[in-house]
Amino acid sequence: MPASHATEIRNDWTREEVLALFKQPFNDLLFQAQVAHRQHFNANEVQLSTLLSIKTGACPEDCKYCPQSARYDTGLEKEQLMALEKVIEEAKAARESGATRFCMGAAWRSPKDKDLPAVAEMVRQVKALGMETCMTLGMLKEEQAHMLAEAGLDYYNHNLDTSPEYYGEIITTRTYQDRLNTLDNVRRAGMKVCAGGIVGMGEGEKDRAGLLMQLANLPQHPESVPINMLVKVAGTPLDQQEDLDPFEFIRTIAVARILMPKSHVRLSAGREEMNDQMQALAFMAGANSIFYCEKLLTTPNPKANRDMELLNRLGIKPETRHVERDSEEEEQALHQALAEAKSDHLFYNAAN
Ligand code: SF4
Repeated sequence: MPASHATEIRNDWTREEVLALFKQPFNDLLFQAQVAHRQHFNANEVQLSTLLSIKTGACPEDCKYCPQSARYDTGLEKEQLMALEKVIEEAKAARESGATRFCMGAAWRSPKDKDLPAVAEMVRQVKALGMETCMTLGMLKEEQAHMLAEAGLDYYNHNLDTSPEYYGEIITTRTYQDRLNTLDNVRRAGMKVCAGGIVGMGEGEKDRAGLLMQLANLPQHPESVPINMLVKVAGTPLDQQEDLDPFEFIRTIAVARILMPKSHVRLSAGREEMNDQMQALAFMAGANSIFYCEKLLTTPNPKANRDMELLNRLGIKPETRHVERDSEEEEQALHQALAEAKSDHLFYNAAN
């Protein structure tokens, strides 16, 4: 496909077309991804999100990659739902180190109705700090999605994980359709969608193509597309999984960028094991969002200052928030946050 065709917004990709993108020579694929990326984004900006586990472990689901499943002995300490004050403290710290989006994750199959008021209050208070909010709480019913939207939740994360064909090898306690239904409920409630998957779980290229095709053929592309590299946590069924060729990971990022040119493609779990060169290649392939915190729910992530050093060496700047703000108060909170962040030695000044 010529690079000039790389930026069309489409929702009707065929598996053959997506596989053909994967099979291009590496340099051609990266060039095409860069063209798509530059059409819609500043290629030298990366959006920074921070992720906090607000309820850890004891999940009844059987996702084979996940240390939080109660079915696997991973030595993880279970925790109850975090107190509101602690969540706000963590959100303030994230804001002070330059993050613009605060994601909160709970290891639930789905939230119980009795938990909703507490998480809705977390959303209200984090938003009042001037940050974008995101939650990942498992499957959502339509009314629950509406409650979260009313509280002001900007994004809901629910990953498709892998292709429909490979899905049964990884999870048996919920169906692919259950996942699609949750994404549909999130959209109907008016929230933005964060949905992606995990590679390196023993799937083939056709499955990576199948995952991206599913995401790109949703009625509306997810605004955020996290691409995770499997983190092999001891005690999970995938802890002995063979490593994926790193170039296949980069190809997955590049194809995601081409299929969903207006979405933020997030370089997510697995970054701790990637060297600087690999992360730079991922940015070149069109990744323009990272999790910027020391822990991703329960697995380690590069330290914030190492991230800033790398972005600085690459001349990449943190993306500032481009969202409608509801009130003057919120606008002031954001300016205050940025002013405070600029005085921090870890803050890379995007205005320079
Ligand atoms: S990925 Fe989510 S749903 Fe699956 S076991 Fe882990 S916490 Fe539970």
